[in-house]
Amino acid sequence: MAEPRRNTADGRQDAEQDAARLWDDLVGTARRSVTDGLVVGTSGNVSARIGDLVLVTPSGVPYDRLTPGDITGVDLTGRQVLGTLVPTSELPMHLAVYRTTDARAVVHTHAVHATAVSTLVPELPLVHYMAAVLGGPVRVAPYATYGTAELAEHMLRALTGRSGCLLQNHGTITHGATLGQAYDRTAQLEWMCRLWLTASSVPGLTPSLLTEAQLAEVGERLKGYGQRR
Ligand code: 13P
Ligand code: ZN
Repeated sequence: MAEPRRNTADGRQDAEQDAARLWDDLVGTARRSVTDGLVVGTSGNVSARIGDLVLVTPSGVPYDRLTPGDITGVDLTGRQVLGTLVPTSELPMHLAVYRTTDARAVVHTHAVHATAVSTLVPELPLVHYMAAVLGGPVRVAPYATYGTAELAEHMLRALTGRSGCLLQNHGTITHGATLGQAYDRTAQLEWMCRLWLTASSVPGLTPSLLTEAQLAEVGERLKGYGQRR
């Protein structure tokens, strides 16, 4: 049987190039979260998986300072296999997602409207059909200290059947098949939270809400959304 390419010099070079490209994409996504106003300073973190390697943003380093040489990677147990910078403190959340789903990217932010909503309700009311993009009504994971296994457990429960949730008094977390998809889900979630806060802040009026059946219909319809492949 032919030797797997990964074990040859050429194969290793290919794998390194793939990881370098993904790191570029990851740093671009992290920087975008700042320029789009979803993150302030070094709050939040981003990761992406390639095989058994998980690339992650380093802890407490401003994204505009990250270079190709700062590539930081861990295996699925959290053991550092690439780089010397300390990985994000939220490794337990990122790794819990990769261990339990087929996600390839995870985005965590402290987006302001989403975080505000996380302090008010246990679930984001169904104000818009875009909740279908996240798999249904978005839950709020109960508070636990950042970076702990307890927070990761709460998050996993809130993520059941969803690709995103809110973290009480903390922020957002979403996952997807690509960095672009995980990022877009965060942006949509923040937008929906802003929408609900806006609609529910009109004195004397209460926003109308969608039913789960209406949302399920959208979920089906969205499968055919956009351009033909
Ligand atoms: P890191 O800088 O360690 O990624 O932490 C930021 C954060 O959002 C913790 O919840
Ligand atoms: Zn955080």
